[in-house]
Amino acid sequence: MSSVVQAFSNPRLTELTRRVRAELDMLSFATKPWVIPKFHDGRKMLDVAIIGAGQSGLVLAHALKRRGVTNLLLLDRNPAGFEGVWETYARNHEIRSPKTITGSDLGVPSLSIQSFFEAKHGPEAWAAIKRVPRTDWMDYLRWYRSIADVPVENGVEVVDIDYDADGVTVMARDGSSYRTRILVLATGMDGGGAWVVPLSPGTLPGLTVVKRKRPSASTGTRPKPSKFGSSALSCSSSG
Ligand SMILES: Cc1cc2nc3c(=O)[nH]c(=O)nc-3n(C[C@H](O)[C@H](O)[C@H](O)COP(=O)(O)OP(=O)(O)OC[C@H]3O[C@@H](n4cnc5c(N)ncnc54)[C@H](O)[C@@H]3O)c2cc1C
Repeated sequence: MSSVVQAFSNPRLTELTRRVRAELDMLSFATKPWVIPKFHDGRKMLDVAIIGAGQSGLVLAHALKRRGVTNLLLLDRNPAGFEGVWETYARNHEIRSPKTITGSDLGVPSLSIQSFFEAKHGPEAWAAIKRVPRTDWMDYLRWYRSIADVPVENGVEVVDIDYDADGVTVMARDGSSYRTRILVLATGMDGGGAWVVPLSPGTLPGLTVVKRKRPSASTGTRPKPSKFGSSALSCSSSG
């Protein structure tokens, strides 16, 4: 178990980890590697490279591994355990999706957020929440990564991509490069380009930019989080 996972581990989580590994093992019929290797300049190419080891990259890599595509690599510029928005710049207490959200579990109940949360905090705590606190969601992703056991290189920032008929070359800031058959961009919000504030005060009638979520002085309405850059600003509307 990685040191970030050990930090929040307890006997229930240790038992869940044992169980989920056993269940994944029971369902491992179609996980045998089957892709015929391909070479470039005498070096074996990756079958799939994924930029971004946030939830999308992790779950995709795990799903591919479960289908026998094992020659893959995730690259992320953030340190291990701090991928994505959850403990970097997000400020909301909870994630917005309902706690019953599924998908990352790949249909294995013991890999679900509910199983993880109940193991970490107990079933009563799960019953008491409506949405998952973002720090627990990040802990879930850290645990998930330890279960998925897919190769991730952290601290690697991709700065350029080139391709030809034979494959894709991925260039990192430190000068290293990776050759792959297929490249997936799972770069999340960062993949949208530069950070911009889409609207500024005065652009629309009634638009107010506030620093914290509290009732707007001008309209008396409670500001609703905007869809973009919600960790940095919230927009209130008079409607
Ligand atoms: C407060 C808050 C609450 C949210 N709540 C929800 C919710 O409830 N439900 C929901 O679906 N979504 C929610 N979101 C949106 C959330 O950001 C995404 O759903 C989720 O993070 C997407 O995961 P991802 O793996 O696609 O991208 P991310 O989690 O953003 O991960 C992308 C990764 O790519 C890496 N990366 C980017 N560019 C490079 C590069 N050039 N080189 C190397 N690595 C790179 C980054 O370091 C990052 O780790 C919320 C967002 C915020 C801020």
